[in-house]
Amino acid sequence: MNWLTNFVRPKLKALISRKEAPENLWLKCPKCEQMLFMRDWEANQEVCSHCGHHMRIRPLKRLPHLFDEGKYELHPLPRVPVDPLKFRDTKRYDAKLKEAQAKAEGRSDALVVASGLMGSRSTVLALLDFDFMGGSMGTAVGEGLVMAADLAVARKAPLIVFSASGGARMQEGILSLMQLTRTTIAVRKVKEAGLPYIVVLTDPTTGGVSASFAMLGDVHIAEPDALIGFAGPRVIQDTIRQELPQGFQRAEYLLEHGMVDAVVHRHKLRETLIRLVSLLMDPPIAESRSLAVAGR
Ligand SMILES: [Zn+2]
Repeated sequence: MNWLTNFVRPKLKALISRKEAPENLWLKCPKCEQMLFMRDWEANQEVCSHCGHHMRIRPLKRLPHLFDEGKYELHPLPRVPVDPLKFRDTKRYDAKLKEAQAKAEGRSDALVVASGLMGSRSTVLALLDFDFMGGSMGTAVGEGLVMAADLAVARKAPLIVFSASGGARMQEGILSLMQLTRTTIAVRKVKEAGLPYIVVLTDPTTGGVSASFAMLGDVHIAEPDALIGFAGPRVIQDTIRQELPQGFQRAEYLLEHGMVDAVVHRHKLRETLIRLVSLLMDPPIAESRSLAVAGR
């Protein structure tokens, strides 16, 4: 312990790191703390090239990596009444909403609906945006999911949902809770039409979203290390007053315990989804279904 280690070295380090890390050029991986060059990190779909940590990626950044040739069409969410309860906590809800919209490149709420070709097959995608008010589900997200389901049925296309949410949007009170049933019915429409419904669970998927459409997939894929559950681990630990097992509510733990079907690296998602949809939709299934009808 002397002034050289306690005082001079930290100052020097601060000087050097400031020089090395001008804003917007570098970022630090929250998992391994390595510095990542922003442009490489973006090209790597926001996965750390050192430790493979999957950071939370916004829907519009994700979409080009999923559709054929990165081409897709965006579908604006249906218009819904804004702030029906005139809710206010530290700020007015409508002001918060406007702020989130401004940061979301003009998207109106926490869901992005897109369609296009994936593996030359017409596909509908609905992606929750965790950066938009915690990906919370209010009326707009519910309506958006119903729209995505209707679109999938009309086009005879599979519906693939990417979930990332803290749960229901508390500023919309009971109206947000109603979306649990609405989205469940939307999913059922897709299933009744005999179309695949696949959920990709990304970090974090919790609360009302995990209690409705995010857990109803024909197949559940999760991104590595994603937190998936209803209540968060801290709440559970405080309630049951017991230490939780290692990796509790993480994708790999849930795979081991049968809650998800596969944990897939972000770079492999597109090919995995295309393969899955083809398994679920191509002739063998249609044949077995017509056999079942004939045997009635
Ligand atoms: Zn890392």
